[in-house]
Amino acid sequence: MLTLAFATVGAAVGSFLNLCIDRLPRGASIVTPRSSCDACGRRLAAVDMIPVISYVALRGRCRTCHEPIPRRVLLVELATGALFGLIHLRFGASLQGVLVCVYAAYLIVTLVIDLEHRRILNKLTYPAIVVALAVAPFMPDRSLLQTLAGGAIGLGVLLLIALVYPGGMGMGDIKLGAFIGLAVGLPGILLALYFSFVLGGLISGLLWLARIIGRRDPIAFGPFLALGALTTLLYGDPLLRWWASRG
Ligand SMILES: [Zn+2]
Repeated sequence: MLTLAFATVGAAVGSFLNLCIDRLPRGASIVTPRSSCDACGRRLAAVDMIPVISYVALRGRCRTCHEPIPRRVLLVELATGALFGLIHLRFGASLQGVLVCVYAAYLIVTLVIDLEHRRILNKLTYPAIVVALAVAPFMPDRSLLQTLAGGAIGLGVLLLIALVYPGGMGMGDIKLGAFIGLAVGLPGILLALYFSFVLGGLISGLLWLARIIGRRDPIAFGPFLALGALTTLLYGDPLLRWWASRG
């Protein structure tokens, strides 16, 4: 029951994340004005803003002008709802669970903005790094040194790649790597980077095979880093324990 409540809260948070994704890249306020239709500018009523349900009830179109609402709106609401539900299953209603929800919200916004704009915003990454540093001394099953080492490895590995393959990795990716390292610590960061590279390689390989992209097309790496981080935040500890137990 409580998991369902977390998922519902997650979908509502996802609705707010959509607004952040729309406004933050162009430097607009996320507080005012109220949400409106991108096409006709009509202010949305409360009934238009029920996460997931409004989108389905309106069949993905504006009530007034019938222009399609981007499918991403629904995907972000569903994904945030599902993630918050999974976080509750894993961490219960604990402080650590709330912290992972905050990290997940940041990672979702960063992932989608990087996909849509090829940018990773400092004004999101810097506060995320500050939060991760501020909570570092209080992490239950990790020392301060492990957290800082995680951040240094995340930053260092991506910086090294950026130096070896100029153009492949941006400063935004490097700072995101530092945040992820602080968020998951050591050895979690090794797992997060591993997932990111495997996923990035697989997906760009498939896109290339399907001729959707060319061999030299640049691919935003931030989304893969975010996915690797989310997987590690949720299941890193059990995975690492299982790995260690195999000797
Ligand atoms: Zn409209």
